[in-house]
Amino acid sequence: MKVVKFGGSSVADSEQFAKVKAIIDEDDQRKVVVVSAAGKSVAEKIKITDLLISLDKLRLNNSDYSEVLNKIVERFVRIKNNLHINFDIENEISNIENNLKSCTSDYLISRGEYLTAHLMAAYLGFRFIDSADFMIFSNGEIDMSATADKFMNIYQNNETIVVPGFYGSNKNGDIQLMQRGGSDISGAILANILDADLYENWTDVSGILMADPRIVSKCKRIDSLTYGELQELSYMGFNVFQEEAVQPVRIKNIPTKILNTNHPHSGGTLVVDKIKRDDKQLITGIAGKKNYTIITVKKYQLNKHIEILQKVLSIFQKHHLAVDSVPSGTDSFRFMLQQSEVKGILQLVMSELKNNCNLDEFSVNDNIALIAAVSTQLSSRPAIAGRIMSFLDKSLINIRLVIQEGSDMKIVFGVSNSDYERTISNIYKNAVGQ
Ligand code: ASP
Repeated sequence: MKVVKFGGSSVADSEQFAKVKAIIDEDDQRKVVVVSAAGKSVAEKIKITDLLISLDKLRLNNSDYSEVLNKIVERFVRIKNNLHINFDIENEISNIENNLKSCTSDYLISRGEYLTAHLMAAYLGFRFIDSADFMIFSNGEIDMSATADKFMNIYQNNETIVVPGFYGSNKNGDIQLMQRGGSDISGAILANILDADLYENWTDVSGILMADPRIVSKCKRIDSLTYGELQELSYMGFNVFQEEAVQPVRIKNIPTKILNTNHPHSGGTLVVDKIKRDDKQLITGIAGKKNYTIITVKKYQLNKHIEILQKVLSIFQKHHLAVDSVPSGTDSFRFMLQQSEVKGILQLVMSELKNNCNLDEFSVNDNIALIAAVSTQLSSRPAIAGRIMSFLDKSLINIRLVIQEGSDMKIVFGVSNSDYERTISNIYKNAVGQ
């Protein structure tokens, strides 16, 4: 049995709905369908979720929201009418309108998935199951065992269903949203609970490319990769699959495929536990992010002075700064922070570090891009890192920082923002061989 998730662009309008139906009709193993809210298409420039976020802001500010509300209503009514779907969407919408004065933001923003799933269920002739009735949050996280119990009480074996992604409910029964792109997580959780043979994630790209195609033209597709590699690439900036959706499929070893609704037979990327790779392929993928600030602190034998590190970390914590990674040397520690987060408070943080931490030295480097070359091969063949560095060196790219931990499947290079694109194309050209 397959769990299939369709992203926002796959359900953006009636044409896309028809493509989804053709995909479902082709394979009777596609029994559990999870949908995002209608997203962008050539004609529709704004995702329903973003319209709902604007609507929410306007109604909370007591501003006129009628224009945004009309846009949302029109889109759903158009899908219904174009496809002659027998579902009273007008009634559902008027219920939502009646709740606008008192409902929570999470409830309102989740209505995109709710309405899209209702329409899809009626269109496919599948049963609608509301995620609010089984996807249970506890302390901000999904409680897997409560969720599985609830779901198995509602779901009848082998039934064909449509479920809205992106939300669940907390123990008071209030709707709670996941993070953006969360429908991937909803689908992965259902694949886990149902022990699916395959989790298909239908998007608008034919699988995951080895690097950003805006930087590397004619970039090759990754035909298969491991869960670990996908998690690392998602963390470092690939946004085809929600990073947190990896774990539910990984722990049950459920093969996962990234496919294209617009070209269903053009192949995709398969995600599995282990892959036997051709020795010549040095890396699986390259991802990166710009705009980091690196703070390096130095103290003689710092590794023996845990109390100093604790003080440094408590300063970051006090300012609610997420520290991305902490590579260590004997006398030094590096902290990587997103520049947007430290903006405006960097001077204050620096003076607190100077006055409270008894450091020998510290320095700040701004405008750093972090680029990760990911491959499970890196842990067994650490020399790959040296090879990559040597071709970067030949291209006169100044590497400001290298992080590779022994057991790790990624090597991260820090370069100036201005060298970001050049570094990615260079690693691609030399390590992938194009
Ligand atoms: N509709 C939500 C978003 O735009 C969730 C999702 O697409 O998975 O982020």
